[in-house]
Amino acid sequence: MSLIPENLDELRGKAREFALREFTEEKIRKYEEEEKYPEEIRRKAFEAGFLDMSNPWGMLVAMEEFCRVDPGLGISALSAAFGSEVIMLFGSDYLKKKYLEPVLKGEKISGFAVTEPSAGSDVAGIRSRLERRGKGYVLNGEKIFITNGTVANHFYVLARSSPPPSPEKRHHGMTMVVVESSWPGFEAEQMKGKLGMRATSTAHLKFRDVEVPEENVIGEEGKGFYYVMTFFDISRIHVATQALGIAQGALDMFTEYIINNGLNNRETYQFALADMATRVHAARLLTYDAADRLFKFAPDPVKTSMAKYFAGETAVYVTDLALKYTGMQGVTSKLEKFYRDAKIEEIWEGTNEVEKLVISRMLLKKR
Ligand SMILES: Cc1cc2nc3c(=O)[nH]c(=O)nc-3n(C[C@H](O)[C@H](O)[C@H](O)COP(=O)(O)OP(=O)(O)OC[C@H]3O[C@@H](n4cnc5c(N)ncnc54)[C@H](O)[C@@H]3O)c2cc1C
Repeated sequence: MSLIPENLDELRGKAREFALREFTEEKIRKYEEEEKYPEEIRRKAFEAGFLDMSNPWGMLVAMEEFCRVDPGLGISALSAAFGSEVIMLFGSDYLKKKYLEPVLKGEKISGFAVTEPSAGSDVAGIRSRLERRGKGYVLNGEKIFITNGTVANHFYVLARSSPPPSPEKRHHGMTMVVVESSWPGFEAEQMKGKLGMRATSTAHLKFRDVEVPEENVIGEEGKGFYYVMTFFDISRIHVATQALGIAQGALDMFTEYIINNGLNNRETYQFALADMATRVHAARLLTYDAADRLFKFAPDPVKTSMAKYFAGETAVYVTDLALKYTGMQGVTSKLEKFYRDAKIEEIWEGTNEVEKLVISRMLLKKR
């Protein structure tokens, strides 16, 4: 049984060709060292048709193939519409026209701002405040580690709009709004020196008395937490796919190392290769299974969290093992960067522990 539609081979081939052609060693090094957002690559990837949200399987396959060659460039190229699913699912026609359309046309970039200095895994702990003033609102607060932070034209921002009704209901009273980066009171400062994914833009955002018009509220006031969780059910599949691409890329490099160094008959290397290939295959099955459910409009958060956690762990495991067995050659090769990039996959969009909590809580609830 194939979990992925069969007609994607051509697109997969094109995505691989694109990544091998555009993600040259020189560009990978340049954007990594300068910690610069690769706008030229994002534009080319868009023009080549890879950022097509009407073809979700196609986007997934492109993400896998891009990350197999270089995760930082691949993710930047394909995450220009980051967070747009909240507008697609919950936004008004006005918001879709004003904010979604230009992103889908490749003219604008979006970001999704939830994390704060006091609230990472614990989304309900956010402190940003959205207060009524006249016909609109005023936003105050800060967000950290925001992807596309220095390049996005607008952000989907979660803020507290009313106090929690009780300690058990801390997730109530949060609202999502669209905030433009050109508005007075908005500030973005690039966060440099990340372990990996240095070609992605990451910023510390500040909102000081930012005036937000009423029509920029996404969906219903007070329902923001639910919109964020719904978004995670989608975005975690994309993250699992990024991790899968990294793991496959490291496996490719390790296989090449064995062949180039005449180690085909050495049992230690054979065992390591078999171990890596088995885990990559398992991560691929979990990821495609979760995606299959989502794309049939029946997302299963347990399967999604399994895929995200296992694929992230696999990326770290495979890059670690490949480095162990390639020694000096490995630590001075592209594997070194893959190892650092892989670690991020275990953190963003929900750490491994958070994914395990989702899995176990939902399984126990079913009983
Ligand atoms: C490069 C990068 C880009 C990012 N981009 C974005 C973005 O675009 N938008 C955005 O909103 N956020 C973004 N994030 C933030 C990311 O989602 C958070 O880092 C993540 O949710 C974890 O939060 P934290 O770092 O505060 O860690 P914490 O939540 O403080 O966790 C620290 C440790 O404690 C563990 N832990 C936490 N709670 C529990 C628990 N209940 N039980 C057991 N263990 C627990 C965690 O697993 C982890 O090991 C980004 C992060 C990075 C690194």
